[in-house]
Amino acid sequence: MVIYNTLTKKKEEFQPINPPNVTMYSCGPTVYDYFHIGNARTFIMSDIIRRYLEYKGYKVTYVQNLTDIDDKIIKKSIEEKISTEQVAEKYIKAFFEDIKKMNVKVATKYPKATEHIQEMIEIIKKLEAKGVAYNKDGNVFYDVSKFPEYGKLSGKVIDELESGARVEVNDEKNNPLDFSLWKKAKEGEPSWDSPWGKGRPGWHIECSAMNLKHLGVTTDIHAGGNDLIFPHHENEIAQSEMANEKTFVNYWIHFGFLNIRKEKMSKSLGNFFTAREVFSKYPFGVIRLFFSQSHYRGPLDYDDELLSAAGKGLEKINNLVYELKKQIEKSDDNCYSPNINIDDYKKTFENAMDDDFNTPQAVATIFDFVRDINKELSSNNKISKTFVGDSINFLKNTAQHVLGIIDLEKEDKSEDIELVEDLINILTSIRKKAKAEKLYAFADDIRDRLNEIGVILQDGKNGTEFKIKRKS
Ligand code: AMP
Ligand code: ZN
Repeated sequence: MVIYNTLTKKKEEFQPINPPNVTMYSCGPTVYDYFHIGNARTFIMSDIIRRYLEYKGYKVTYVQNLTDIDDKIIKKSIEEKISTEQVAEKYIKAFFEDIKKMNVKVATKYPKATEHIQEMIEIIKKLEAKGVAYNKDGNVFYDVSKFPEYGKLSGKVIDELESGARVEVNDEKNNPLDFSLWKKAKEGEPSWDSPWGKGRPGWHIECSAMNLKHLGVTTDIHAGGNDLIFPHHENEIAQSEMANEKTFVNYWIHFGFLNIRKEKMSKSLGNFFTAREVFSKYPFGVIRLFFSQSHYRGPLDYDDELLSAAGKGLEKINNLVYELKKQIEKSDDNCYSPNINIDDYKKTFENAMDDDFNTPQAVATIFDFVRDINKELSSNNKISKTFVGDSINFLKNTAQHVLGIIDLEKEDKSEDIELVEDLINILTSIRKKAKAEKLYAFADDIRDRLNEIGVILQDGKNGTEFKIKRKS
């Protein structure tokens, strides 16, 4: 299997440090708002890579961080007159709701930046002791001139960067390219004690610390959107490799942007749709198929027409699943066995995915399979049970387990039932809010009235869960 490595700018054979284990870190969201469908592309493509590694038999430890302290979170907390913790809590909850809707597999760990302040301080102390970090009145900066390999990921040369740099202007820095490791506390902002006084960490050190703590000194794979190559990932390398004196990451994977009319979708440009908006309009399979139909490294334009086309494609796959499930009930092994070798499709699918996760080709193989099996089904009344079973397994292993576009187990659940579950979740969150505001009678009324219609709420350690008592 080969992976395109941003660091070497070529496809390289994938050799994990400690097979069959693979460590993978994917830069997660800054939780100050609902994330947009551009972020969703990155989260979903990263999920597909993780799923394919698991398909290959690797045991993947997949870590995705939550950036829960940052300028944008502080700004939001001031705007909404709530604490930064409340901002983070609200959007972490929304993040989990959204990725569930997107059929993203739960990560091994979701570390939060604020729970790793001590680990960050330890790295900064190391860098200071090595003379790579300097303290200017409680602000600590990384001196990029001390890291000879600075620029190796982004391919940028320090001199070039200095002349045309769009870097943060700050009189306290010795060099405009130096970046913050520790930011001195400002009035009213959250802060932590440190050897340099009260303050908070810079963004880049957060990922270096969480990566080190949860995945070790050298990680197999580190992933994120293209915009993170510079400065975020370049700075993570500089910090980690100086502190640990070991290679930080072996394979760097970066995702192309989701654009809208050729422009990067982003919060700051205001040209975005939230993932929750889009996922309430289209089922997860449609969006994941739309993303899978273009290669993860290239740009992709958000396009309603292409999404509708993906919807039609998905319908073809689901129709075949439906037909195969019907066949398996009525057939046996005396029935006709088509002259089709399912292993050939499997190999073609694997060859595509082994070539730097070429999902467009992998999807094309699934559609070839659907076309060829449909032909057999339309010209034969009954097909051998083993063949039907193998066909179902092929779709299960590829379209379901790797691409995550279908769900054979959940297939019979109607959209109405999903809507009912969403409505109950809304009511339970209103009840939680009512309890927090001591409106107990109101909260009890919600519980009792749901109970009357057979929806039983159960409060437990992990929040409130519900059971629906079937009438028949
Ligand atoms: P953020 O919350 O801004 O740190 O972004 C979370 C992840 O989404 C990062 O890996 C970003 O690189 C990625 N991302 C941001 N905008 C886009 C976009 N338009 N298309 C694809 N990925 C994006
Ligand atoms: Zn990061």
